[in-house]
Amino acid sequence: MLLLFIFGTAIDRQRNSYCMKLPYLFAKRFVAGETFQQAAPKVRALNDQKIKITLDLLGENVSDRQMADEAVSNYIDLLNEIEEAGLESTISIKLTMLGLDIDESYCRDNLFRLLERAKELGQFVRIDMEGSDYTEQTISLYKEAHQRYGNHTGIVLQAYLHRTEEDIRELAEMGADIRLCKGAYKEPERIALQDMKLIRQAFKDYTSLLLAQTRYPRIATHDDELIEWVKEYAKEHDIGKDRFEFQMLYGLREETMLDLTEKGYNCRIYVPYGTMWLPYFKRRLMERKENIWFVLSTMFKS
Ligand SMILES: Cc1cc2nc3c(=O)[nH]c(=O)nc-3n(C[C@H](O)[C@H](O)[C@H](O)COP(=O)(O)OP(=O)(O)OC[C@H]3O[C@@H](n4cnc5c(N)ncnc54)[C@H](O)[C@@H]3O)c2cc1C
Repeated sequence: MLLLFIFGTAIDRQRNSYCMKLPYLFAKRFVAGETFQQAAPKVRALNDQKIKITLDLLGENVSDRQMADEAVSNYIDLLNEIEEAGLESTISIKLTMLGLDIDESYCRDNLFRLLERAKELGQFVRIDMEGSDYTEQTISLYKEAHQRYGNHTGIVLQAYLHRTEEDIRELAEMGADIRLCKGAYKEPERIALQDMKLIRQAFKDYTSLLLAQTRYPRIATHDDELIEWVKEYAKEHDIGKDRFEFQMLYGLREETMLDLTEKGYNCRIYVPYGTMWLPYFKRRLMERKENIWFVLSTMFKS
């Protein structure tokens, strides 16, 4: 807790004063670079090991239109760059980076502008799920996007939210492409499970629902108990390894990913890059205290 506090304080100070001096030294454990050019060789190296990628250009809670417009242009450039570089990578976005805090219909236009290009390129855009203030709007915009752009877009659902079972049933019926994760934001008891045992049980229940009701669920976790459970469940129910994929975050459990790939499972790593790494980095530190030690050890490596 103390370390989390010290890091939290250091990071907050960074935002104000030495933001440009310390940044990447802290974040490089979880962030593949500050530019596409820095991230691309890491993506290629993972592709060479048969691991697919989803690239996330970091940023969220944008509050002015110029920044949101730039984010859309940068994401369109990213789609073009992935195509030109021949990388096996989709993209993940956050709606608050495309202007959801500014105006929903403006955000919809931005999302559709990005999806137009994704469709032209035969690409795929995953809409990450943010804090519960945005759940309803995110799902509703996703539904509209899905209606127009079909399987060029997908969504994320969080196992800790009480509403998730209902969302899965509704979205599965539409043929949605769903990533399931535990959920990374601090949420009140009224809307979300708090106890890890219950969150794991919900994750298992929802995984079995997704395997039964959707074509190709994306199972996003680093948790061995869940990974082993999914493997066993699929085997027992005669569900092929080609019916789902495991997803993990860049910088975490790469050996486990390689081992899963070697055993014939489909694997995808979520690779964030960019200069706006602070909120993402904070979430990684808050969810697992061991991540602080990873960061410290990385700082002393070149
Ligand atoms: C690809 C991907 C996309 C995501 N997208 C979203 C999103 O859109 N919205 C959202 O809210 N959240 C998202 N998340 C974050 C997610 O909700 C969780 O906060 C995060 O994954 C931590 O939960 P966990 O199940 O991975 O493991 P944790 O709950 O952190 O850990 C559980 C157990 O797993 C094992 N473990 C975990 N990490 C490690 C490690 N590095 N090394 C060794 N053992 C480990 C340990 O035994 C640990 O006790 C995403 C996660 C992934 C992997």
